[in-house]
Amino acid sequence: MTADPFSVADAAMRLVEDLYPICRSITGDGVRESLRLITEVVPLEIHEIPSGTPVLDWTIPPEWNVRDAYIADAGSGERVIDFRSNNLHIVSYSEPISARMTLDELRPHLHTLPDQPEAVPYRTSYYTRAWGFCLSQQDLDNLPDGDYDVMIDSSLEPGSLTYGEAIVPGATEREILVSSHVCHPSLADDNLSGIAVAALLARRLLEGPQLRHTVRFIFAPGTIGTIAWLDGHRDELSRIAAGLTLTCLGDDHDFTYKRTVTGDALVDQAASIVLRDRQIAHQMTDFSPYGYDERQYNSPGFRVPVGSLMRGRHGTFPEYHTSLDNLLFVSGERMAESLDVVAGIVEAIDKNRALRNLEPFGEPQLGARGLYGALGGTTIADAQLAMLWVLNLSDGEHSLLDIAARSGLSFESVEATALLLEDHGLLGPALART
Ligand code: ZN
Repeated sequence: MTADPFSVADAAMRLVEDLYPICRSITGDGVRESLRLITEVVPLEIHEIPSGTPVLDWTIPPEWNVRDAYIADAGSGERVIDFRSNNLHIVSYSEPISARMTLDELRPHLHTLPDQPEAVPYRTSYYTRAWGFCLSQQDLDNLPDGDYDVMIDSSLEPGSLTYGEAIVPGATEREILVSSHVCHPSLADDNLSGIAVAALLARRLLEGPQLRHTVRFIFAPGTIGTIAWLDGHRDELSRIAAGLTLTCLGDDHDFTYKRTVTGDALVDQAASIVLRDRQIAHQMTDFSPYGYDERQYNSPGFRVPVGSLMRGRHGTFPEYHTSLDNLLFVSGERMAESLDVVAGIVEAIDKNRALRNLEPFGEPQLGARGLYGALGGTTIADAQLAMLWVLNLSDGEHSLLDIAARSGLSFESVEATALLLEDHGLLGPALART
């Protein structure tokens, strides 16, 4: 799983730049156009679920599309707020309106961030009919009193919710799931970076050697899209061995891995070992039922073991959900690093297994089998220590990740050692549990 980091960085940034101007929401043509652009990186199967369809405890809402929106000076006709210059200017799911009103009448519909006077906030009103505009506090302060023409040319009509899926077939039906939300408008880190990392990982896996696990990528609108996917795939959830939501992977913050609800799932262990082995600055946080779609996957009826990988943590950095989360806030290099970490986690999950020492009574004679110095690139002492750890803990219960965690040795060296010992007939598959 190696690739030229510069070309990955370029490809990631190009995709983010292409997706950035599109006005996305939980439904509508913006999501369709975004999925079409992702399909240029990795082929997606596109699904449409009609408005009104019940999904778990929810219902697919009417489809929202917006063609234009502005607030214009009633006298000069000059647009003082223009959706065309930045799609964050409109509250997502705003109902249509065309009216003339005073600034005071308009104020309840205007959203700003007084503490960040230069930033435009991101606001939604998916399930309550409303309309509104978002603007910087500076721009609001500069609006003179007077009359304004307010226009939102939007539609809320029966349509459908759109999501995309890519499946990289493995040797088995056991699955690793990678999930990214595709419902945010012009916000680069949250979550175009997650989308780009997921799409490029899918492409890398499709072009690489086949894994044991099938890897399924879901590009769905947050909450309602994932709920719709879960509703339609209940029978397949037991195949999912591990999963990750990907978000905010293009900024300069250290990595954060957020654990699954149980905290001891395979993906939790793999993420912890991979970040440790690579000596990457990171924090591990416990699950909380907030954040992204990990909370749907981890809900008590499903308990699909899905963790979350991010750099900046949602809600904790000032650019989050504002116009400051723009193309300057993310970089292709950061996304390429993130992609390597995610690929490492997927690889560790895929290569992890429990083995059984076939000479478990005392220590097998390594020298007689030519195993001293048999591993290149490490000192004899390191290689011998790795063999002793793997032989000792390969009781059919401990996995290779368990051995890496317990011994402090890298997963890579534990895995290479296990392959060597298997070749020499000292390890075999763990017996199936009865
Ligand atoms: Zn968000």
